[in-house]
Amino acid sequence: MSDTAVPGPAAPAEGPVGPGPYRITSFTCHDVRFPTSRELDGSDAMHPDPDYSAAYLVLRTDDGFEGYGFAFTIGRGNEVQTAAVEALAPYVVGRDAEDLGALGREMVHDSQLRWLGPEKGVMHMAISAVVNALWDLRARRAGKPLWLLLGEMPPEEIVDLVDFRYLTDALTRAEALEILRAAEPGRAARVARLREHGYPAYTTSPGWLGYDDAKLRRLCEEAMAAGFTQIKLKVGADLEDDRRRMRVARETCGADFPIAVDANQRWDVDSAIAWVGALAEFRPHWVEEPTSPDDVLGHAAIARAVAPIPVATGEHVANRTVFKQLLQAGAISYLQLDAARVAGVNENVAILLLAAKFGVPVCPHAGGVGLCELVQHLSMFDYVAVSGSMENRVIEYVDHLHEHFADPVVIRDGSYVAPGRPGFGARMHAASVAAYSYPGGEVWRSRG
Ligand SMILES: [Mg+2]
Repeated sequence: MSDTAVPGPAAPAEGPVGPGPYRITSFTCHDVRFPTSRELDGSDAMHPDPDYSAAYLVLRTDDGFEGYGFAFTIGRGNEVQTAAVEALAPYVVGRDAEDLGALGREMVHDSQLRWLGPEKGVMHMAISAVVNALWDLRARRAGKPLWLLLGEMPPEEIVDLVDFRYLTDALTRAEALEILRAAEPGRAARVARLREHGYPAYTTSPGWLGYDDAKLRRLCEEAMAAGFTQIKLKVGADLEDDRRRMRVARETCGADFPIAVDANQRWDVDSAIAWVGALAEFRPHWVEEPTSPDDVLGHAAIARAVAPIPVATGEHVANRTVFKQLLQAGAISYLQLDAARVAGVNENVAILLLAAKFGVPVCPHAGGVGLCELVQHLSMFDYVAVSGSMENRVIEYVDHLHEHFADPVVIRDGSYVAPGRPGFGARMHAASVAAYSYPGGEVWRSRG
């Protein structure tokens, strides 16, 4: 961790404040790690022992506001992620950060830092932490939850957030404006509906690879009793094991209950096709991340071969350009954007617009630490102002680590309750940041 200024006030200010001069005076990034590998929570075919972690950024302004953002990692290397976030401090400290579209593009196209990508990996995830923290700050200053702040913006301002470089063969600024204007008339009614009913969720909690059949059966029953309308199982480590677990889940949940499967990039193209074929009798609702997230043509080949089982991907898709290709190739039936992998809110607005253009539903990736808290805002904004639809759409939900957040997600009857508090939901409790800081926090010190 480094701190470029003295700590701010203990209780950050809350909006709304009118537009006026302010400056960001402090930029502090913490290496925070949760020892989740001990319980096999989060275990999948490629990541058997994740320690869910965050390079957690706190911004402070000279008039007492704070903004929070993070990049999500799964343990080792979080110090590299933290250093990458810190490399962006010069873009933010001393500025007022009013034009977030321009500032986001400045960071993405930094003439030297871009060599570390471009637009992918650790540096791009670092930009996500900074851009998201700036949006969190803006929403706190406005006194509104981010989904509503974005959902009330004029279409022209929303389009100004998008970096159309590399997109215009698939989506032009004029087309994006047309999509947003078409959704304008119903905005108020959709805000009201979100406040009343929330946004549907599905749960991955029953499906981690490390759980035995009794635990799987119990968690399936609990998921249905809690009102979830879909679950997801991790697959890809052992075919006979997957068939047994799918049979248990199918027997427990019933013939028509949607059960998605997630291979977390485990297979080559041919083995994906064979493996999904062997699971087809259990009718997976979708097959997620069947192969490398960079393999657009491979996803398209798998989609053609396993149809009508739909293919989904996105949590490791590096940027809007790869999403554009996946859509152009007809490779995905569900787009699973991630709040903290691409360059933050701005690039996710571009991805939501691309999905709307191609008519592909967005079912975001969540879980990890804090990803549910963030991504609910993006789906709700999409419903209010972009696609205008919840049909065939669900947000992933995993019941881990929410207790560390100041504004944890609320699930009611299997749906995300629309957040009412100002911000983007990324703020962690100071006590959690201190206890889980790596390697000096008490949780890690006591583990030797
Ligand atoms: Mg996944």
